[in-house]
Amino acid sequence: MTEIPSIELHNGVKIPQLGLGVYKVEKGAETYQTVSSALEAGYRHIDTASFYDNEKEVGEAIKDSGIRREDLFVTTKVWNDEQGYKATLEAFERSLHKLQLNYVDLYLIHWPVPGFQETWKALEKLYKEGRVRAIGVSNFMQRHLETLLENASIIPMVNQVEFHPELYLSELLHYCNDKQIQLQAWSPLARGSYLDHETLASIGNKYGKTPAQVILRWDIQHGIVTIPKSTHKDRQIENKRIFDFELTQEDMERINRMNKNNRVGSDPNKLY
Ligand code: NDP
Repeated sequence: MTEIPSIELHNGVKIPQLGLGVYKVEKGAETYQTVSSALEAGYRHIDTASFYDNEKEVGEAIKDSGIRREDLFVTTKVWNDEQGYKATLEAFERSLHKLQLNYVDLYLIHWPVPGFQETWKALEKLYKEGRVRAIGVSNFMQRHLETLLENASIIPMVNQVEFHPELYLSELLHYCNDKQIQLQAWSPLARGSYLDHETLASIGNKYGKTPAQVILRWDIQHGIVTIPKSTHKDRQIENKRIFDFELTQEDMERINRMNKNNRVGSDPNKLY
């Protein structure tokens, strides 16, 4: 089984470059089975959120896997209506309880909503107390990050944003790299909406890889952490078989050129 490589965050914590996302995986048996099968397939990084309402089953699958806690990387997020200093600290305790963990590896502000600076103070406190190994944000565009950095005492380790070939946010990637903020791609497969794209198919044919594998490899070569979701074990395995080939610079650029600023999720620019 090929091991998934890790990237070092700016505080030295290592994050596996591929993880399993569990948004819209139903709470109950579906989440339990999805996480269990991914862990069996060799995934060690799980991305959940209080909003997904499946932290409990993520925690059960982790506990039953028997995998050592230090070998796992678990991310969760504070939801919009839980933000603010005190409310975030309370939300964190709820998430931890549901996950049956005594720390999380990465805690993120899910979306930039008014007052996110206060939320960030709560994350800094949790980090300084050792309750979380890393803290970060999600759906922050450059201007949100600039506002956050005005008063932050800790630079976010991660920014998790929608990112895929038709939404190639090269300027944001460049800005984050410059600040040592690790970019993570959500909906890396654009929820499967253009996996039949001819560029992806023709590049895939060259390497004997599927369009999904081509996209995920493109993330890896951009130095991004990627978290595709699949409830199917065969696809979880497929999505993990991306460390045995390398796209040429020319193919990377062909994929970069697919950009259309096309989103499958909400636009953070319109929220706040
Ligand atoms: P993805 O881009 O990961 O796409 C998931 C879809 O693609 C599912 O329908 C899945 O189907 C299908 N799929 C997965 N692998 C393959 C494959 N190899 N071939 C064909 N189809 C495939 O979408 P998500 O929106 O789930 O994003 C991934 C994760 O990112 C989320 O689960 C969540 O953890 C995170 N996220 C974070 C957000 C944020 O605001 N921070 C917002 C949205 C997502 P099936 O399951 O049936 O296999």
